[in-house]
Amino acid sequence: MTGAPLLSISGLEVTIDNGAGPPVLPLQGVDLEIFPGETVGLVGESGSGKSMTLRSVLRILPPGGSVTGGGISWRGRSVPDMGAEELRAFRGAEAAMIYQNPTAALDPVLTVRRQITDAHRANRDGPDADPLGFAESVLRELEFGNPGEILNRYPHQLSGGMAQRVNIALALACGPSLLMADEPTTGLDVTTGLRVLDLLEEQVRVHNAALLFISHDLRAVARVARRLGVMYAGRIVEAGTREELLSSPAHPYTRALIGCMELRPGEPPRSIPGAVPTMTERHVLCSFRERCPSRMEACEGEPPPERSPGGGRKMLCHLEAGDG
Ligand code: SF4
Repeated sequence: MTGAPLLSISGLEVTIDNGAGPPVLPLQGVDLEIFPGETVGLVGESGSGKSMTLRSVLRILPPGGSVTGGGISWRGRSVPDMGAEELRAFRGAEAAMIYQNPTAALDPVLTVRRQITDAHRANRDGPDADPLGFAESVLRELEFGNPGEILNRYPHQLSGGMAQRVNIALALACGPSLLMADEPTTGLDVTTGLRVLDLLEEQVRVHNAALLFISHDLRAVARVARRLGVMYAGRIVEAGTREELLSSPAHPYTRALIGCMELRPGEPPRSIPGAVPTMTERHVLCSFRERCPSRMEACEGEPPPERSPGGGRKMLCHLEAGDG
């Protein structure tokens, strides 16, 4: 990509120390850049650090959580150093979030109309602002055939798929340059989830925003994002375009994830043998080595180097391109 990134995360480390047991280390050196209009997806098992990466960007870490290394910058400004007013303007108007549980993310006592128009007024008020007109047109774009009627409903009167489309409308009402979506199809049936993903991808394009999408489901991530990062134990272990990663995965963990996606007739779904390491462990050597079928002597003695297996791809591994 050319030009300056919107979001730049470099060597990000997060520690959660709430005094109960050893500190948790959910991020151990995350590097990620997102450029204007770009769609980026992070995929990995539970506990890999996907959600914590999004929460770090918006500074909504859990109690006891803090950035203990590296940095996050937005259009060149350090996010951890933003003051209260700058942070308020950053959240929503520049980076907006779509949450996993769509009904819980909405205010139960306010109508859809009130929630969307309030978000619009709070983030892009001006002489030409038309919050109600925006609410009606964005709901129509999100395939509500009767926006006037939906605007009068309360969240409990919406199905899960409808509530998630309203959440997308709410995020877009803020006019963000970056939309961040945290497993937005969890809890939806497969067909509804696919439609929500397609609408999200379309709306990001129409509204000229960038997207950072996270999921444990590689198929969902690959459906909406052109550039992918595979996370494991708090780091991105392989990154590249969707086509590169799906057609020629290089890191053993990416290969294992793709292997789990392939369903063979008559065979049960596959899983990756072994378990994700605990989040209290600090990794100097490769965090995947206990589960890795390609493990070699170097993996037991040296941290995994950053390699470029072709194209613009990067991975953290001792394997040379084409090995394994
Ligand atoms: Fe496997 Fe070694 Fe690569 Fe880790 S560094 S993924 S153990 S080959």
